[in-house]
Formats: sequence, structure tokens, C-alpha cells
Amino acid sequence: MTDSKPSGSQHAFQAEVAQLLDLVVHSLYTDKEIFIRELISNASDALEKLRYLTLTEKEILEPERALEIRIHADDAAGTFIIQDSGIGMTHDEAVVNLGTIAHSGSREFLKQVAEQKAGGAELIGQFGVGFYSAFMVASEVIVESRSWHPESAGIVWTSTGEGSYAIEEKPGLERGTKITLKLKDSEQEYAKAERIQRLIHRYSSFVAFPIFVNNEKTSTVQALWSKSPAEISEDQYTEFYRFVAGRADEPFYRLHFNADAPLSIHSILFVPGENIERFGMERAKPGVSLYCKKVLIQQHADKLLPEYLRFVQGVVDSEDLPLNISRESMQDSALMNKLRRLLAKRIIKLLKEEADKDAKRYAEFFQKFGMFIKEGVTSDRDHSKELAELLRFASSMGEDEEQVSLAQYVSNIKEGQKAIYYISGPSRKIIESGPYLEVMAKHGYEVLFCYDGMDDFVMTSLREYEGKPLVSADSSELELPEDKAAREEAMPEKEAGDLARWLKDILGNKISDVKTSKRLSSSPAMLVNPNAMFTTGMQRILQAANQQSLGASGMILEINPAHHILQRLNTLREKGQPDELAKIVTEQLLDNAMISAGLLVDQRQLVERTMQLLERALEEEGKKE
Ligand code: ADP
Ligand code: MG
Repeated sequence: MTDSKPSGSQHAFQAEVAQLLDLVVHSLYTDKEIFIRELISNASDALEKLRYLTLTEKEILEPERALEIRIHADDAAGTFIIQDSGIGMTHDEAVVNLGTIAHSGSREFLKQVAEQKAGGAELIGQFGVGFYSAFMVASEVIVESRSWHPESAGIVWTSTGEGSYAIEEKPGLERGTKITLKLKDSEQEYAKAERIQRLIHRYSSFVAFPIFVNNEKTSTVQALWSKSPAEISEDQYTEFYRFVAGRADEPFYRLHFNADAPLSIHSILFVPGENIERFGMERAKPGVSLYCKKVLIQQHADKLLPEYLRFVQGVVDSEDLPLNISRESMQDSALMNKLRRLLAKRIIKLLKEEADKDAKRYAEFFQKFGMFIKEGVTSDRDHSKELAELLRFASSMGEDEEQVSLAQYVSNIKEGQKAIYYISGPSRKIIESGPYLEVMAKHGYEVLFCYDGMDDFVMTSLREYEGKPLVSADSSELELPEDKAAREEAMPEKEAGDLARWLKDILGNKISDVKTSKRLSSSPAMLVNPNAMFTTGMQRILQAANQQSLGASGMILEINPAHHILQRLNTLREKGQPDELAKIVTEQLLDNAMISAGLLVDQRQLVERTMQLLERALEEEGKKE
């Protein structure tokens, strides 16, 4: 019950309002400061409406008054006062606007809170509860208001937020609304001008009307997104980027994107100058903030863009959001999902356009931000095709720094080539010295180089591009044309098969199988992978994590029947049981193949074996003398 103004007519709040107030006052919500955002946004709305009325109405009360917001923080009195020169409210409007809940969204909000009880505080935080948030910090709220109608009378509305309010006429008021909060003892911080300044900077930097705190004008920033791109200079964009991203560098790419349908969106988004995640393990916070009519709804909005676009900085302003989902959970809103898909699509399109426009600059972008594109390929099923277009790789046909897209690869593909080949390895040098490239080069096939541990995962999750399967060059199932010249130097097929079986017996379960190779020419043996999902690149990542060799027991050793080492081994085989030398050489062949594949080997055994080989070599030398 209100204890002040007993002379005014008392009104009970609508049942839902009482319920909402109870929730607001008694929830232990910590971000009480958002009441400032709510009251400033109401003031800004009222001013906006008045500005609109001046275009359509001839007679407006006090037409010469400046459109502005004035806040007075009175430390001594413990009050917070906010006054605007907007449209104001008549007696009946105040009764309806401040005493009932018109929005269906609010009812929905109450229903949700009732269902999940504990979630109430969070829901308040997400969208606020508008005017009633004042009661989080005030023991009494006094609203004095006078409507823009020339003949309107002023009113004063008071409530302690406990079930009822009083309303009566008050003469001598100026146009607009003045709201006085008698702050609770525990909330006296909101009577301090400096604290208020900071909160305004945080929540209301883009409000279009001047805001004064204790007669001092606060610095506000132009909401550039509401202007048309033609009116904005490069410097203005850069300054805006620095303000919203809190950075000092230059933006790399920019997207000023407005839409009316299917959603009303005004947004300015930036790819920043640098990717901070590249230099440390720290995961960046989402960089885009969500606004509604220039008032901050959520900073670092985490559901606004898919996670892999967290490097994008900027602002999205959508008028549709609060009207439709205000006071509902934002998390699972269909509208939010729609907005997210729309923005993702638009950002991907921007990157595609930039890549087409200036490939060199795009390569620089990919160098810095490629990790996010790869994350997207593996996580965003809706856009994986478009994201695949944005990938770039070094290639066996290119120079050091040169990068190709999958589209370029396919457009240069050799006739008869059925797949897109790639091979992973730590560097160009190491890949080029390995055995896998040789056969591809011989057939004139291009091979993409994957230096990044993540690439294997990207390739296996993408599976194909333009109908061509993505195949690792170390796969055991390569369909390659046969090499006739090599075939002629090789031992007969049956003998080679016997040799392979003999070697498999020597190696036992160190290897899953030994087969004769159709693709080797200068190396004696190589490892290939029968498992398309568990590539050599992935095994490398695993063993790096374990810091030890994981062996090659799942892989296949392909031997080159034309190579003289294998031919000598075959002579040993023909003598019968494998002797000590045959064992040492075979095991060393496997280790060499593992090293060529970038896999770790057991170093102790390797050293021991090499010692034995050295001793034998010296013995042979001794025999000659
Ligand atoms: P919302 O802003 O979402 O409509 P609020 O609870 O913040 O909800 O405000 C309820 C209503 O009270 C507003 O829609 C508006 O009609 C009225 N109102 C609040 N503050 C003002 C103000 N400063 N001037 C004029 N009308 C106001
Ligand atoms: Mg409001």
C-alpha cells in the first residue's frame, strides 16, 4: 500500500503487474543497474515519438523545447531523477501504461518464470522488465508527466511497488516525463553521478538524444548503423570500429548491412585487423552486441552468430526482437535462430566477394582467420558448402606462399582424375621429401598440402567437393593408372606376393598387412592408410598428445618390388628361414616408412638396430681385406 499521497485516488495493479513487481523486487538479481538502461530507453522512445509527432501534428505543447534527457543524481537526498521532454502521458495513459501489462510477451514471460521458477533472475537480465525495473533499486517511484496535447493536464503517479499506486492531477508541469526514484538504503550507489556516467557509457552510448548527468553532457557516439553507407566516411567507420571493438587497429573487412524483410536489421560488422586467438589459447568472446533501437540489449551476444564467427566485431540492431520476444527467453527463440542464419549467410557472402575482388588480401585474411572457417566447415551443416569455397591450401603445383581454393583445383583437374588429393604434413619441405607425392607428380595430379592439424578433420568431414571425393594421398585405396615402366623392372607378381607375405610374417602384428605397391618408384616402401576416417594426420595429432609412438599396427606397408633392397630381400627369402639380417632390415624399412609418414618411432630400438647394421657393414669391410 502506498503511504504517500493519500489524497490521490488509489488503484490496485492488475494481477499480472503485481506478480511481476513481486518477482522484480524479490529476485536476487545482481545486475540491478539495468534499470538505467530501461528508463533511458523509455525516455528515448518518448522523445522519438515526439519528434515524429512534430512532423504530423500542428499543435504541440511547448514546441520550442529541446529534445533531451536530463538525469539528476542527488547523493545527499538519495534520489535518482530522470526527465525527458518527450510525449508524456495523460491520466488515462499513465493508468494503462504503468498499471497494466499490454504486451502478450510479458504474460508469456510470467508463465515461463512460473514454470521454471529459478530462471526468473536470468530472464530479467536478458530483456529487462521495462519500467518496473525501477523498483529493484527504489523504495518509492514518483512519475510526473504531462502529455504533448496542448490542453492536457499534468499528473503525478506514485507507488512503492506493493500492490497499488496513487494517481492525481498536478498543475504547472512541463511537457514530458520526470521520474524520481527514492533509492533504497542498499542502492545508494545510483545517487552518484560518476557511477551513472559509467553505466550510460556502457548501455546507452548510442542514444540519439543528448543526455545530461547533473547538467553535464555525457559523450555519446553516433549510431552509424542507422545512417546510410553513402553518408559515412572511412574515418568514421574506423572510429566506430575502435569504439565497439575496443581496439586500436584498423578493421580488415567491413559489412554495413541493412534489411527490412524477413527481419528488420541494421548492422555494421567488421573483421578485425588481427585474430587474437592465434597467439594464445584464450577463446575470444563473441564480438557482436545486440541493440534494439540503439539501446544495448546484450553485449557479446552469444546466440546472435554461430560460434565460429566469434571473431566478427560490431553491432546488430533489430527492432523486431523486443516487440516479439521481449521478456521471453532469447535462447530458444525461433526469431533469434532466423536472425543468426541470416547474418551467417551474409557474412559468408561478404568473404566470398572479398576473395573474388582481391585474392591476395583474402589470402592474408585466411592466414589469420582461416581457423574459424575450418571450424565452420566442420560445425555448420547449413553452410558447409559455402564455407568450403572459402578454404585455401598450399599445393604441390604452387610456389611456397601461393594458395589455391578447391574451385581452382577442380578447374585445373587432369582429365581422368577422379578425386581431389591432399596430404598432410608439418611443412612443404617434409611433404616433398616423403614418398606420397612422387606417384601423384608422375601422373600430373595436383596435391593439396595440409599443414594444419585441423585440416584432416576438415577434409574428412567435408568428404567431397563438386562431386569429387577428397582423398588423402596416403590412403590405401587410391585408384591410380598403372605404371608400366616400373612394372617391367619389378620381380614377377607371384614372387612379389610371396615376398610380401614373408615380410608380414617377420613384422607380425607391428603392421596390419604388407602389399606390393603399384605407385612407388624411388622409395623402397611406404605406409598407407586403410581407414579414411583415421588418417595419418590424425594419428600424428594423437601421438603428439601422447608424446610417444603409437606404432603402425593399423596401417598397411606397401613395398616397391622394383627397388633393389626388396630384390635383395627376395634373394634372402629364397634361401629359406629369415635370418637376423633379414629381420633387422625389414624392421628398419618399416621405421623409415613411419618417419616418412611423419610418425614417431621407438628411438631406443632404432638406435640398437642401426648399431647392429653398422657392425655388420664394418664386418663385411673387414672380410674384404
Ligand atoms: P516498453 O518500453 O517495452 O513499452 P515499459 O515497461 O518500459 O515497457 O514501459 C511501459 C510503457 O510506459 C511504455 O510503453 C510507455 O507507453 C510508457 N512510458 C514509460 N516511460 C515513459 C516516458 N518516459 N514517457 C512516456 N511514456 C512512458
Ligand atoms: Mg521500456
